[in-house]
Amino acid sequence: MFMMKNVLRNLLSRNATRKYPYVRREPFPDYRGPVQIDAEKCILCGICAKKCPSQCIAIDPKEGTWDLDLLACVYCASCVEACPKQCLSMGKEHPAPRLGHDHLVVYGTGKKKKARAEAGGKTDAPASETEK
Ligand code: SF4
Ligand code: SF4
Repeated sequence: MFMMKNVLRNLLSRNATRKYPYVRREPFPDYRGPVQIDAEKCILCGICAKKCPSQCIAIDPKEGTWDLDLLACVYCASCVEACPKQCLSMGKEHPAPRLGHDHLVVYGTGKKKKARAEAGGKTDAPASETEK
């Protein structure tokens, strides 16, 4: 009987959840969204990759790439705090739902392969970043 009261109350009350991603709540002030990088400042030193508990950052100094596995990131901000160039930050937007291991790939400065940044890439990322 006690349970029936709860069932009826829940049936007649408004939803407690939102239909994300169609309905999005405004992020709280200290909300941590997806990691953002200012590619121009990155020196590919690798400190962020060493500090990342999820091991989701891969750096290839030869290729000049900084690669983040967007699904594996746990939004801890350790990389942001460790970066000596302050080129990482936590975004303020809710991340898009993901089905697989999409990567944010950035071509850093000071490396030969920066020119590859101009050679294509995806849609909603800045010129020197691609998602794949
Ligand atoms: S993001 Fe910062 S810590 Fe990571 S490789 Fe670039 S400069 Fe180094
Ligand atoms: S926020 Fe945490 S888990 Fe995500 S890339 Fe940075 S250190 Fe790794």
